[in-house]
Order: sequence, then C-alpha cells, then structure tokens
Amino acid sequence: MSAIETAVDLGPFIAGKAEPLSEAVQEIHDPATQRLVGRVTAAGDEQVDRAVRAAEDAFVAWSARGIAERGELVGRAAHAIRAAIDELAPLLTAEQGKPLRESRIELGRASETLAHYAGLAKELRGAFVLGLDPGVSGQVLRRPLGVVGAIVPWNFPTTLLANKLGPALVAGNTVVAKPADTTPLTTLRVAAIMHEAGLPAGVFNVITGRGAEAGEALVTHPLVRKVAFTGSTPTGRRIMSLAATENKRLTLELGGSDPMIILQDADLAKAASAASMGRFFNCGQACLAVKRLYVAEPVADEVIEAVVQKAGRLTVGRGTDKGVQLGPLHSERQRDLLEDQLRRTLDRGGQVAAGGGRPPGEHLSDGWFHEPTVVLEPPHDSPMATEEVFGPALPIWRVRDLDDAIGRANASPFGLGSSVWTSDLDAAAEAAERLDCGYTWINSPTKVYDELPFGGVKASGFGKEHGSEAFDYYTDQKAVVIRRRGRG
Ligand code: NAD
Repeated sequence: MSAIETAVDLGPFIAGKAEPLSEAVQEIHDPATQRLVGRVTAAGDEQVDRAVRAAEDAFVAWSARGIAERGELVGRAAHAIRAAIDELAPLLTAEQGKPLRESRIELGRASETLAHYAGLAKELRGAFVLGLDPGVSGQVLRRPLGVVGAIVPWNFPTTLLANKLGPALVAGNTVVAKPADTTPLTTLRVAAIMHEAGLPAGVFNVITGRGAEAGEALVTHPLVRKVAFTGSTPTGRRIMSLAATENKRLTLELGGSDPMIILQDADLAKAASAASMGRFFNCGQACLAVKRLYVAEPVADEVIEAVVQKAGRLTVGRGTDKGVQLGPLHSERQRDLLEDQLRRTLDRGGQVAAGGGRPPGEHLSDGWFHEPTVVLEPPHDSPMATEEVFGPALPIWRVRDLDDAIGRANASPFGLGSSVWTSDLDAAAEAAERLDCGYTWINSPTKVYDELPFGGVKASGFGKEHGSEAFDYYTDQKAVVIRRRGRG
C-alpha cells in the first residue's frame, strides 16, 4: 500500500449516485507535499436542497423497515468498509496527512462503530407502563426524527462520521453528511462503498463544500430535523444560533483541552507513555487528547524526563513513508495557529524542553510539519493553558497534590475528557467525581469505547455519542395512552 498516484475528481453523493463535478470546484491538497490529490464540488443551496430532499424521500421506506433489517444493512456496510481499508487508507492519508498506520486504525474504528450499532439494533426499544389508571396503560414509542444533517471536521473524518451514522441510520433516520472542506474524498468513497454493500439510495448522502455555504445551507434547510455537529467551539456556537430559528435538535461535540494528572504513587512509565501517545497521536489534532499535564512535585523530574525523551524519539515525516509516527499538521492554518499559540505563550514565560519549531530536512520543506514539543511551566493564564492547542505541543506543570491538580484542571473553559494516574483508589474515585468533563480515564490511555457514552460539558458542547445513549439523540420518545373498552 503506498501513496495515491493521480488526483481524483469526486462529485457529491446524492440519492445513491456519485454525481459529476459541478462548475464550482474545490481542490484538495496533500498536507505533506501540497500536491493536488483531488477535486470536489463546492456545493451551494441547490445541491444541498437536492441531497436533503433525497434523504427526505428515502425516510418513509427506510424508517418503515424492520429494525433488524436496518441493522443488517448497516452491518454489511461496516463490513464493506473494513474490506476496503487497503483502498481507503492511502486516500485518507493523502488528504488528511496522518501516517498510513493511523489511517488504517481510523478506518477500522469507523467500521467497528457502525458494526456496534448494527448489533444494538435489536436492543432499541421504548417502554410500556401498565396501570396508569384502572384499565389504562401507556407506551413510550421511540420514533426516528427524519433527516439528520451530520457535519464533521478533518481530524478523524471517518470515525467522527460513523459515530453519527451508526445510531442515526439504525434508529431509522436518513442522513446528509458534510465533511470538512479539506477532507471530503474518503467520505465520498465510503458513501459509495456503503451503497454498493446494499444501503438503499437516499439513506446516506454526502455534500461537499465550505462551512459558511454548504454547511449553513444544511443547518438551515427546513427539512433537516436534527444537526449532529463535531468541530470547533466558535462554529458550534454559530450553528446553535442558526438552529435556534427553527428549534432544531442539536448535538454539539466541540473543542477540548483535556488535562492529565499524574500523582506520586502512579505507574510512572505507563503514565509517561500514555501522555506521549495521548498528545502526539494524529499530530496532536484530536479532541480527546492529553493537552495539559499536571504532575505531582516529587515525581515531576522523572516524568518530564521520560516525556521529553519520548517526544524527541518520534519520527516525523510524510504519512506514506515507512516508520513515520508524526505526520504534518493538517494545513498551513493549523501550523500558523500552533506557532502563534507557542509564541504568545513563550513571550509570557515557560521553557521549551523538546522541539519548539519546524523540523529540518529538505523532504519536509513543502509540508506543514512541526516538531513534537514540550513546554515546562508556562503561566497558568497563558494560551497553552486556557485555549485548545490542536497540534503536537504539550505543556507540563508541577502540582502540590490532587486538590491543586483538580483546581487547575477544572479552571479551563472546556470540559471534554481528563485522565488520572494513581494507585490510590480513593484519589481516583475523588478525581472521577470532581473533574468537570464528560469522560475520565483512570490509569488508562485515552481510548474511546463504543460501549460508553461520550460528550462534553461547558465549552465542549452537549449531547452524547457512543453507547446505547446515542440513540436518545436520534429518536423522539412519544407517549401513547391506551384506555381499554368500558373503562370510562
Ligand atoms: P470547524 O468548526 O472549523 O469545522 C468543522 C466542520 O464544520 C467542517 O465541516 C466545516 O466545514 C463546518 N463548518 C464551518 N463553519 C460552518 C458554519 N458556519 N455552518 C455549518 N458548518 C460549518 O472545526 P475544525 O477546526 O475544522 O476542527 C477542529 C475542531 O473540532 C477542534 O476544536 C476539535 O477539538 C473539534 N473536535 C471535537 C470533537 C468532539 O467529539 N468533541 C472531535 C473532533 C474534533
């Protein structure tokens, strides 16, 4: 498996068909080389309207199918994606930048999540209440919502979509997805593969284009009943205001600045590995990640040394090259943002202990590369502490104890995830209760499980993906009262 050789042209995927490119096109470039890898339609109101109407037309028949049949079709689609990983991974690496190994992991996870929801299909049930009054019972019906608009960013284009597609489709909704304007190619291929595997036309459609045009047209389309959004906090707020005009249902999975706390009695070697992995995976461009590290004073030197060594040993390079662990940042904009945050932080204080700049090497000069970076003790009110850092840079602070660490951790406007390393059960339990976020890992790398609900609080958004809880966000619960004959 290697790099894709020639650029691909892919039109929107509407009503079960890949359309030709329209006149307005957008170019997709490889973040490692800036080479052209594809062109897609820059959709406007017309394409979005057709896609939404195709989804609306497909809704009646799709929602009327048996649940097991929908599960079976989504399960087949999951299987087809797994079978196509050799084809899809180079495309994902070409448009996103991540190492091929990570593209394979991402696509495997997308397939797993769809398969997970296919398996849960038969568990999707409402409730029945006997004896509300004599001879009167109640039912709680779970009904699908209708057309769901699914908008996702570029950092994990396929898994973030699968998180929405799985529960939405199995519950009987139809979907119009809008991938990020810089990563539409893999999503368009995934849609085609899922339909080849038997998903009926119109059930899952993909439009491509810019957020301010295609994205807003989707959010404001009157036939879209729910918007499931993953992306930045400012865009989430914009979408919330747009959706408010028609009282649309919303799930917002937004930015994060997840803290990791390492206490004195932790397994330090494992904690340092989890910190490095949690910060540098996907070149630091993950919502759930280790974005701030707080270490108990007595073990701080040991942890810092281990993390700095690990950062220094990571192989930076093009995602298609063998052995590469850290690809480029996704775009010039992302690298500019990171460099600006580092500069504004270091102007205020802090010491660079690893990396800090662009890596040397002629072969890296055309891409948006940045060294894995560790910054010690930046001020607690500097950008690395208060903003989301979406790149390979980890700030580390020494803390007195658990209380000090939790205070620092919760001081962020974000509340997505957190992790704690300790062998003290009481400390772990206290941290899990007090950390103000949606997910806490105890002595575990920041791995997301399909079985558990995931979603943030505060500026990280609201609503849940994953778990059977996700079905609550793609169904309405309708009450029905049944009075037996002769009971008043
Ligand atoms: P972004 O908000 O700029 O874009 C995300 C998506 O929204 C893209 O498809 C974009 O085209 C679209 N969009 C942009 N403006 C829009 C508008 N006005 N109306 C409708 N759609 C619009 O996000 P980004 O910077 O590309 O992605 C990175 C962000 O995503 C980070 O903040 C990261 O933490 C967050 N994220 C969150 C999660 C989570 O589950 N909480 C997961 C991954 C990424």
